[in-house]
Amino acid sequence: MFDTAQRKKLVSVNGLKMYFPIHTGLLRRHTGDVKAVDDVSFDIYEGETLGLVGESGCGKSTCGRAVLRLYDPTAGTIEVDGTDISTTSQSALRKMRPVMQMVFQDPQASLNPRMSVADIIGEPLREHTKKSKAERLDRIYELMDAVGLNRDFANRYPHEFSGGQRQRIGIARALALNPKFIVCDEPIAALDVSIQAQVVNLLEDLQSELGLTYLFISHDLSMVRHIADRVAVMYLGKVVELAPREGLYDDPKHPYTIALLSAVPEPDPAAHDSANRVILQGDVPSPSNPPQGCNFCTRCPKVMDICKQEDPEFREIEPGRFVACHLYNQ
Ligand code: SF4
Repeated sequence: MFDTAQRKKLVSVNGLKMYFPIHTGLLRRHTGDVKAVDDVSFDIYEGETLGLVGESGCGKSTCGRAVLRLYDPTAGTIEVDGTDISTTSQSALRKMRPVMQMVFQDPQASLNPRMSVADIIGEPLREHTKKSKAERLDRIYELMDAVGLNRDFANRYPHEFSGGQRQRIGIARALALNPKFIVCDEPIAALDVSIQAQVVNLLEDLQSELGLTYLFISHDLSMVRHIADRVAVMYLGKVVELAPREGLYDDPKHPYTIALLSAVPEPDPAAHDSANRVILQGDVPSPSNPPQGCNFCTRCPKVMDICKQEDPEFREIEPGRFVACHLYNQ
């Protein structure tokens, strides 16, 4: 089990909000906000993989991008490697870029089709280092070796590769500047099932070789169970539960986590206990108009009166286990 007490915090997110304004009418008046991320806090420790899970539209990708300051957050602080990056200028942020990188969901869309593999992987080296052309090429080859790409293909273009190989190019580019922290945003969702495990294994190998820290964003609870040390569950812009992997999967606390896990198929159909399956009623409310009180109160099988009035505090109910639910506030 991952022992956070022995580790240093590399990333610390506090009260992060990412609202997108809604403008309506002829005068484009500001009439509301899409609350994509609404008061989210978590830490990520050095060498850890924190899984961030939830259904599509829950705000997990927006959260990952805001943590890297690809968006300017509406509120909250983000500390990465001892530096608060939530309000730093673009030039100061540029200096932080080598420390923190991102692997995107769709390698097809995130790689420039007009650039060769060597140019794509070498781009961050050109922008952020003073390496000569020969030194850059050496590093490009080194990175291609590290991610399992044949050096002979350095002058080929992205369309000449398979989806899995393209994701390896994206990973090599993310590694070029020796980052400490990588946000992996659904890195296997666009890949064939047969090669998903290869890319996940590669990420794990690179983590142990290079001491990387990951925020691994995914809707695939089985894959997150495999790769994450701790898991944060998001619903409608909020983290509702955060726990070590074993605790979360063996004994989920929040009613939403319980429902989400009950829907994960078991490898052995005989072991699947359909009696314990929790089927949620209704749809996820709009993030532009979340319900009063607990965000989950319109669908929660355990809803109480207080849930419709007060937003439950996200708090530690056992060492290392955080839940936002009135059931644990009594
Ligand atoms: Fe359900 Fe209430 Fe807990 Fe929200 S606070 S998850 S509505 S029991």
